[in-house]
Amino acid sequence: MTGTVISGQNRLEVVHSLMIIKLLEESGFVSLPAIEVSQSPVEKFREYLMSRTKAQRFTEQQKQLVEHIFSQHHHFDADQLIDNLKEAKNSISRATIYRTLSKLVDAGLIRRIDLGERSVYEHDYGYPHHEHLVCQTCGKMIEFQHSMVETILREICELHQFQSSGHTLLIRGTCLECNRARTTKRRFDLI
Ligand SMILES: [Zn+2]
Ligand SMILES: [Zn+2]
Repeated sequence: MTGTVISGQNRLEVVHSLMIIKLLEESGFVSLPAIEVSQSPVEKFREYLMSRTKAQRFTEQQKQLVEHIFSQHHHFDADQLIDNLKEAKNSISRATIYRTLSKLVDAGLIRRIDLGERSVYEHDYGYPHHEHLVCQTCGKMIEFQHSMVETILREICELHQFQSSGHTLLIRGTCLECNRARTTKRRFDLI
């Protein structure tokens, strides 16, 4: 959702507020509401490329990729993104996709989450800090925030006089639906 605001100097400023994110439990994804940011992801990425020691060109394909990634909020891996783009008849090469993904991580626009056997990406820019529960049966990722987690981690860092630059908390296990399905199956097996 992009709104237009005209400032005192009649300068056009685009206030980019990322999609309002609803709870999408039925599609296996639970997410948090987005936070408002003053720059669009495309603008932020352009700024990042310009700020490199050797300024990098912002290609049309990279722009399309950033727009595509930020048009929907979900956790995705590189292969899903490649398939997705193929479906949309977009012929961005695999190499460009991988290269751009790592630049987007570096630019602070997306975050890479290491799930062990694979890595997934999600929006970092314009999205609040959160933790994840990952179902090892169906792959569902549930996002959550809890002030106690933050408090405890801060206390631990203080105790060790450790200067934190961020943390990742990932809880692996089985989601409610998969757990239910497993119990039902077990019951059937007993009959
Ligand atoms: Zn599950
Ligand atoms: Zn997430």
